[in-house]
Amino acid sequence: MIAKLVVLSGPSAVGKGTLASYIIEQNKDYELSVSATTRSPRPGEIDGISYRFVSEDEFSRMQQSNELLEWATVHGQHRYGTPRFPVEKALAEGKNVVLEIDVQGAFQVKKSFPEALLVFVNPPSFEELEARMEKRGTESPEDKLRRLETATSELSQADSFDFQVINDEVARCAQEVVDLVKSN
Ligand code: 5GP
Repeated sequence: MIAKLVVLSGPSAVGKGTLASYIIEQNKDYELSVSATTRSPRPGEIDGISYRFVSEDEFSRMQQSNELLEWATVHGQHRYGTPRFPVEKALAEGKNVVLEIDVQGAFQVKKSFPEALLVFVNPPSFEELEARMEKRGTESPEDKLRRLETATSELSQADSFDFQVINDEVARCAQEVVDLVKSN
């Protein structure tokens, strides 16, 4: 089977990270892409595993030297991007690669990798999304508001994705994504 590039996008706090980790843990032929970002680590996040935390200068250098498959400024604040080389290497080794990125980034990936599968992850409801953000408790009230505003605009672009799933229960939703990848 040909290895696939799977892009998971959706609003902040919808549980994309948990979903992506679950898929990787349960399926040995999947690898997760580690993004570069200019934002600071949250408590518990590890450099090189959660993200590659880089300076503004380093991120600019990566952009200029075409090291990023896609990149975007998210929530009008920090830059995030997908390092190109690890993705190409994993695909060449026959592994499916999961990208957990924002909506703008997803559309950029589709331009350079038209065969990528864009999957939009929906919350069961907007109220549930707010509750999950509240529970995570890592953002200031201003951050939360900004993320909910971004979420509204992201949810309105879901129809442009190849597929949509609802993250009601991680194991079930992860299986749905894996099944989609198998059959497409
Ligand atoms: P957070 O700061 O909560 O970790 O992530 C904020 C947003 O940035 C999330 O919507 C996440 O999907 C997105 N993001 C993370 N990595 C990348 C990336 O490499 N590229 C793009 N375009 N977005 C990313």
